[in-house]
Amino acid sequence: MKKKINTRLVGIAIMAVVATVISITIVYYGFFERQIRSDLEISAKLLKDTHYFESVNADADTIDLSTDMDELRVTWIGSDGTVLYDNDASPEELSNHANRPEIQEAFTKGSGESVRRSDTMNMNTFYYAILLDNGTVLRVATEAENIQSIFFAALPIILFITLVILVVCVIFSHLLTRQLIAPIETMAKNIEDMGATPPYRELVPFANMIRQQHTDILSAAKMRQDFTANVSHELKTPLTAISGYAELIQNHMVDEAQHDHFIAEIRKNTERLLSLINDIIRLSELDRNEDVEFYDVVDLYDVVSECIEGLEIAAERRNITLSFEGEHFNIHGNREMMRELVDNLVQNAIRYNNEGGTVWVSVVGGVSPTLIVRDNGIGIPADEQERIFERFYRVDKSRSRETGGTGLGLAIVKHIVEIHHAKIQVNSTVGEGTEMKVTY
Ligand code: ADP
Repeated sequence: MKKKINTRLVGIAIMAVVATVISITIVYYGFFERQIRSDLEISAKLLKDTHYFESVNADADTIDLSTDMDELRVTWIGSDGTVLYDNDASPEELSNHANRPEIQEAFTKGSGESVRRSDTMNMNTFYYAILLDNGTVLRVATEAENIQSIFFAALPIILFITLVILVVCVIFSHLLTRQLIAPIETMAKNIEDMGATPPYRELVPFANMIRQQHTDILSAAKMRQDFTANVSHELKTPLTAISGYAELIQNHMVDEAQHDHFIAEIRKNTERLLSLINDIIRLSELDRNEDVEFYDVVDLYDVVSECIEGLEIAAERRNITLSFEGEHFNIHGNREMMRELVDNLVQNAIRYNNEGGTVWVSVVGGVSPTLIVRDNGIGIPADEQERIFERFYRVDKSRSRETGGTGLGLAIVKHIVEIHHAKIQVNSTVGEGTEMKVTY
């Protein structure tokens, strides 16, 4: 950034110097040219006013302009254009001047002027012609450097000034960028300091974004740490049980009557471990695929019927009635994920229900297709309704474990809802039941 600002400033300085030099040269040359023209006009008028040329009465040999007139060329032209006198060359060598623009103009308008490139390189000749009272024309001319030669003559000094300006600019831009950047560097160092205001107003959105990202990264890291700790703890409990039961059996410390029970316990804990590992794998897959969209056209009614069919045995075992109603309609979604979502919600409605309770499932089409899973079970306290979507958060830990819960089901549901850009709402009253409403 510093380098960029420096080069830009130096570039601007060079452009400014070049533009200034060119415009000053043009303006200056304009004045210079006007001055020459006006000097020539004065000289011509002065000479005319002396009536010297009329007095010689066409006898050019008598003209004597032997004063030091090197810079001023004087030519006297007869009314037919022939050169009668020239202080620089002999008139016989000069061709008829009648077609010269300044002479023509003088004949018609009384005076005329023109500029022509000289034979000498880089010089212009300025002419001013004036009609005398006897019908002849007097022309004065002088040579002056043209604009290019003035420019090239001034080039060394221009280059020197440019160099000085460049050096000043480099030093100045160095100081300026350092002054500009210093607060930004300080801000970058103290980016975590939420109270610090950014040095420039333009940096406020940038600083806010960085701070937000910083906070997000920290909380994601914290979540990962918590998750790892929770996973380790969740894995450890069934493994310790399995190991304990196996040890007892190995040491023949279990009598015949308890043997089957211990084996069943080992199996139950193994299953718990498996479902825990399955849920962890599923969550990490969902974490990875958050931005991937792999949608099918799914008939929600069919998906729900399939899930309910699969859960009927579990419901019967707990003497719970499953009721399902709705209409066929299609949504855009991932069939497998939809199945997982419905499965988790209905399983929870069975798991956290009372003996003999009911689970009502309904699907409604329309502008916002909706899935509702309602139960008349134990309900969720209001202050915990937000938290049940956190990984491993359980309201009633022992009930969750007993019924084979992993504490990850609703975290998976939340993920799937987010991937489908849907919304989930919880409506629950302790002792009365819970309603989970997913709107697409
Ligand atoms: P779990 O595997 O423990 O069921 P979930 O993530 O599915 O984990 O649910 C988190 C917690 O939310 C559960 O432990 C339970 O306490 C509560 N919960 C979920 N669904 C219901 C429901 N329908 N009725 C009452 N409590 C529920």
